[in-house]
Amino acid sequence: MAKKMVAIVGRPNVGKSTLFNTLAGERIAIVKDTPGVTRDRIYADCEWLNHKFTIVDTGGIDKESDDIIMRSMREQAEIAIETADVIIFVTDVRSGVTAADMQVADMLRKSRKPVVLCVNKVDSYEKFEPYVYEFYNLGIGDPYPVSASGMTGLGDMLDAVLEQLEATGDVDDEEDDTPRVAVIGKPNVGKSSIINKLLGADRLIVSDIAGTTRDAIDTRVKRNGNEYVFIDTAGLRRKSKIKDDIERYSIIRTVAAVERCDVAVLVIDAEEGVTEQDTKIAGIAHERGKGMIIVVNKWDLIEKDTNTMNRMKKEIQTKLAFMPYAKMLFVSAVTGQRLPKLFDTIDTVIQYSCMRVQTGVLNEILAEAVATADPPSDKGKRLKLYYITQVSVKPPTFVIFVNDKELSHFSYVRYIENKLREAFLFEGTPIKIIIRERTKKSDSLI
Ligand code: GDP
Ligand code: GDP
Repeated sequence: MAKKMVAIVGRPNVGKSTLFNTLAGERIAIVKDTPGVTRDRIYADCEWLNHKFTIVDTGGIDKESDDIIMRSMREQAEIAIETADVIIFVTDVRSGVTAADMQVADMLRKSRKPVVLCVNKVDSYEKFEPYVYEFYNLGIGDPYPVSASGMTGLGDMLDAVLEQLEATGDVDDEEDDTPRVAVIGKPNVGKSSIINKLLGADRLIVSDIAGTTRDAIDTRVKRNGNEYVFIDTAGLRRKSKIKDDIERYSIIRTVAAVERCDVAVLVIDAEEGVTEQDTKIAGIAHERGKGMIIVVNKWDLIEKDTNTMNRMKKEIQTKLAFMPYAKMLFVSAVTGQRLPKLFDTIDTVIQYSCMRVQTGVLNEILAEAVATADPPSDKGKRLKLYYITQVSVKPPTFVIFVNDKELSHFSYVRYIENKLREAFLFEGTPIKIIIRERTKKSDSLI
């Protein structure tokens, strides 16, 4: 199931990044007392009482004038409303309720998104309690006093977040197993053109799914009797006027779309090749274990000889070396060249990402692999691999039981992964291998 998203919004300097880092469980020294410090962590996994969700920090760098702050906050609220399931609205007890807070509160209230109001910098409750009540004036419910840096009050606030998350239900209705395809990539690479061409050329039956704001960017498509849902990150885009925020918002949208998809289609521009931002976007899908198709668009603009495609394939594989499994397609949204193949490729990738392999077969492969190349050893002790089993799909995930985790070298795990791929292909999908030490309990299983 898709992980829910929780977005943090609020004025500059109220403590959003501090809260984000505290919740992400990494008290790394990103927050400095110097204004204008670039922070590049935008999203992170968070877990509270066994519930996992993704938190995003919508706030960019500090803004220099009130005018820009207002505009930036409106944009922050918009992106949060568009992408998040629950919003944490952070305010600062020391500055009280400001005009900017009021504006954001208005927007959030109108959106009807669940909001948890966080009053930060309440480092001492006795001292600040009287000032907390003022925040009821925002009209969005109970204020939760916290100290993000002192790590107090966070439990109650997170309980409120969980309560709201649970109330949102399963937006990605679990019983609907229609494949979800997120079309991601930088602006102007041709995402909308591709989607439009696919819809037009194949005379697809299209219906927009009514409902929440998020669903408005989903398009349901039928082809050869199969249904697909396209999540278009280009769709509802309102471009930010503030340059620093553009990339941040595009990353947040990508995370939101990727979180909900089964397969990510990363569109890149054939003329530009793989850029740094493409790599970042690809990394999001990889980290989240999603199927991956790289669509090299604008192929019509490339002057070609017989080797052009292969050369480009190699170049892309080198730059995106962390995802050698990705499928690749060279297309043109203008001429429609090879675009219809995208559906078959999506089918293939989904099949592989849902594939289950029987334990017996897996262990044969493991035994063969171990016989072919000795596992690593250290100080006379050799890694022993006892048993492998598949524990889940999307992505296919395997557990290998070993004698000593410390001995399992990264390169040997990759070797095993390659052996699994040789045997079962797993085209277009990452696979996960978890190394676990055999305990007394699992001993009896073997
Ligand atoms: P952002 O701009 O909203 O992301 O705010 P930051 O997280 O960068 O924090 C702004 C300033 O407030 C920094 O100097 C933080 O150290 C400080 N700060 C954050 N949380 C707290 C808190 O709970 N108590 C106090 N006293 N200061 C805090
Ligand atoms: P998006 O921002 O990723 O959705 O990109 P758009 O679909 O809006 O396309 C950006 C620009 O690239 C537009 O001017 C398109 O006409 C152009 N474009 C898109 N696909 C192709 C293509 O395959 N070939 C050529 N020559 N131009 C394309």
